[in-house]
Amino acid sequence: MPKTQPVNVVVVGSVGIDTIETPFARRESVLGGSASYACAAASFFARPGMVGVVGNDFPKAHRDLYRKFHIDTDGLQTASGKTFCWSGVYEQDMNNRRSLSTALNVLADFSPQLPESYRRAPFLFLANISPSLQLDVLSQMKKPRFVLLDTMDLWINNTKPELLRVMQRVTMMALNESEARHLTGERGLVRAARHLLKAGPRYVVVKKGEHGSILFTKKGFFLMPAFPLENVVDPTGAGDTFAGGFLGALARSGDLSDGGIRKAMLYGSIVASFGVEDFSLNRLARLTRAQIEKRAAVLRRMMKV
Ligand code: AMP
Repeated sequence: MPKTQPVNVVVVGSVGIDTIETPFARRESVLGGSASYACAAASFFARPGMVGVVGNDFPKAHRDLYRKFHIDTDGLQTASGKTFCWSGVYEQDMNNRRSLSTALNVLADFSPQLPESYRRAPFLFLANISPSLQLDVLSQMKKPRFVLLDTMDLWINNTKPELLRVMQRVTMMALNESEARHLTGERGLVRAARHLLKAGPRYVVVKKGEHGSILFTKKGFFLMPAFPLENVVDPTGAGDTFAGGFLGALARSGDLSDGGIRKAMLYGSIVASFGVEDFSLNRLARLTRAQIEKRAAVLRRMMKV
C-alpha cells in the first residue's frame, strides 16, 4: 500500500525479540511479536498502523523493515529499557510448542497512546497483549467497523474478568482449540463456540494450526483449510499473520457480508502459509501480491466440491 494512504487497520500487540527452536533449526534474537506479524501481513492489502512499545535497544534494521512493508509506526513508542523478549521451543509435531522464557521488559509499563490519525480507522486488531491494554486502545478508537480480538492462555488464567469485558466489545474473536476449551470449560468445539458467541463476538474463529480454521456464527460454520505445505520452517506468528492478512483483505474489500468474511479468511490463510516458510518476517519480506493470488487460486480450486 502506498505510504500516502491513511491508516485503515490499527494493530495493538507485542513487538519483540524472539529466540526460536524447532526440531530442525534454531534462531536467536530475531524480530517477532504479534504486532510485527499482523502488520506485515496486513500491509499486502491495506495500510497498517502499529501500536506498541520497544526499548531503546531495538535495532534500526527492524524499523527499516517496517518501513519496507509501509507499516505506519507513529503509534510505536520507544521507552528506556529493554525490548520485550520471548523464547519458545517446538516439538516434533510443530503444532505443539512450549514457552521457555518471557521477559516483558518495557511492555510491563506500556501505556498505549493512539495517534490522532489512527482513531477513526475502521479496522482494529487487538492482538495478543494484556486485556487491560486492549481495553485502553478500544476506548481511544472512534467507532471502528470491525474489531478482531486475539488472546492466549496467560490472560485466560490471570485476567479472565478483563478478557470477558473486551469480548463484549469486539466483532470477532480468534483463538486456538485449547484456548477455546480452557476459556469456556467446554470439551467440544461446537459447544465452546456457542458459549463464546453468547459472550459478545458475532464471529468466533477457532484456529487449528496446519489444519486450518473454523468460523462459527449463530447461523452455522465455515471451514477454511490451511494451504498444505511441503516444508514448515517456523510456525511462530502464524495466527497473527492470519489475522493481519484477514483484516487487511477485509479493509481492502470493505465487504462485511458472509461471503466477504470468507474471502478475507482465504487471504489470511494464504499469507499465513507463506509466513511459516521461514523464520521471523523473512518470507513475508520476499512475498509479492502475485504469489499470494497464485496460491489463493490453487486453494480456491481445492476447496470446490
Ligand atoms: P503466536 O505464534 O501467534 O502465538 O505468536 C508468536 C509471537 O507472540 C512471538 O513473536 C512472541 O514474541 C509473541 N508473544 C509470546 N508471548 C507473548 C506474550 N505473553 N504477550 C505478547 N506477545 C507474546
